[in-house]
Amino acid sequence: MASHPGSAEDRRNDVLERHRETADAVVPERTSLYIGGEFVESAGGETFATTDPTTNQELASVARGREADIDRAVDAAWEAFETEWSGSSPGDRQRVLLEIADAIEDNADELARLETLDNGKPITEARIDVNSAAEQFRYFAGIVRENGGETMTEGSRYGQVISEPYGVVAQVIPWNFPLLMASWKLAPALAAGNCTVLKPAEQTPLSALRLAELLDGIVPDGVVNVVTGFGEEAGDPLTRHPDVRKVAFTGSTAVGKQVMTNAAENVTDVTLELGGKSPVVVFSDVDVPNAVQLITAAIFYNTGECCEAGSRLFVHEDVADDVLDGLVDAIAGMEIGDPLREETDLGPKVSTAQVDRTLEYLEAAQDAGGRFLTGGDRPDDEVLSEGCYVEPTLIEGLEHDHTAVQEEIFGPVLEVFRWSDYETMMELANDVDYGLAGGVITDDITQANRAARDIEAGYIWINSYHDLVPGLPFGGYKQSGIGRELSADTLDHYRQTKTINLSLG
Ligand code: NDP
Repeated sequence: MASHPGSAEDRRNDVLERHRETADAVVPERTSLYIGGEFVESAGGETFATTDPTTNQELASVARGREADIDRAVDAAWEAFETEWSGSSPGDRQRVLLEIADAIEDNADELARLETLDNGKPITEARIDVNSAAEQFRYFAGIVRENGGETMTEGSRYGQVISEPYGVVAQVIPWNFPLLMASWKLAPALAAGNCTVLKPAEQTPLSALRLAELLDGIVPDGVVNVVTGFGEEAGDPLTRHPDVRKVAFTGSTAVGKQVMTNAAENVTDVTLELGGKSPVVVFSDVDVPNAVQLITAAIFYNTGECCEAGSRLFVHEDVADDVLDGLVDAIAGMEIGDPLREETDLGPKVSTAQVDRTLEYLEAAQDAGGRFLTGGDRPDDEVLSEGCYVEPTLIEGLEHDHTAVQEEIFGPVLEVFRWSDYETMMELANDVDYGLAGGVITDDITQANRAARDIEAGYIWINSYHDLVPGLPFGGYKQSGIGRELSADTLDHYRQTKTINLSLG
């Protein structure tokens, strides 16, 4: 890992000062709940702190919403739906969505810095998130006028099949891509004509609150409501609320199951985007440096805090030594440090709880005889000691049924398996409860296509990873979720079908 001039204390002070100055410039002033077009305190007046995972300093005190606040937000959303938004035309909504995209782009630099402060992701990656967030609104603005629907005549009978919005939807999002996940949820919900109550993750509420400020003045009051708070106190009452007609959730599979149970109480439609433990399959014909670059991106992008991260590597034995040597070298050259610096490749994880969770898996892997080719602990650098850092880690030699292999670590940890027999390898690649994504690296199109079809997952990259294109549906098989995002299918998840059977005879 790269070394730097200057004493550790000087460098630590540099980081603290950079973060303090950035926080002064970009942390939003209004950190209360956004309900009915107004920023309001929580009913109980309680707050909680959101911290910067690079410095562990408090960034802001944020309103702690509970059931009474959820009730208020759901009521405000229904009022907005009944008085205004249900009467909006696709053209009205298209204009609103485009204005939101412009507002995000106009404030891109500030939003990216805010996201880096609150989440810890490298600034270069935060900028990609912000651009993609704007793209979401543009994509759904593009398809909002495609009303779809069908008609059918049979004798004197004239049938129409139309789509209508649900009314009020509940949306709960995680901390790994806070602004982007807010956009993945808001854009299709609004495009389909719904009003929404959004609950951001407790670790990263700030970009959603800043987005609410930007929406104020573009979106009619009450169409979008943001209730910050904790899962059990705000997420739970929101997802079991009897007046919510659709629930959309992104997060862990464990909480996803709970959310599904909540939604079942009212037979509410639910879509879930949950965890993953995605395989990356490397064939023997690969160009090793190119494969190393793809594998590195697949696991270490966003510090491994990606639901689709390629976290299990299946590398053909003919190239395994070269690929693993290449990975160890690539990791040694990674810049781990202050995510606000342009040079940084790997920032901190989102919280100390997430560091502890990752280290527990690493300890279990060590106890089970896993060989650490590199990493395995917090970085040995005084400057990083205050932050939530974990070294990029490569582990070989674990049994595939070990917990560290089967469960989502959600950190910069890659588990390696060598293979020679395709069928045996594919059996292992599919031997997890998850099925979100997968990667295939080879120049042989026939092998690539076969592997892409054999991997049991909803999204497969061949010779790339992570790039998601609006229009190509994203979502999971097995316990990775229900429903698809990023595509026209998503609009249908936010609409219900009505059949009008008219007898003219
Ligand atoms: P969670 O699934 O707990 O968090 C996701 C969202 O759900 C947050 O807004 C959270 O609120 C909310 N939530 C928590 N409990 C409830 C509940 N009972 N009802 C409704 N909403 C609830 O993820 P964690 O933050 O606990 O992370 C744990 C693990 O989950 C990670 O290590 C990772 O493996 C996985 N994960 C997967 C993600 C993905 O994209 N697939 C994203 C995030 C995590 P709050 O945070 O405010 O408590």
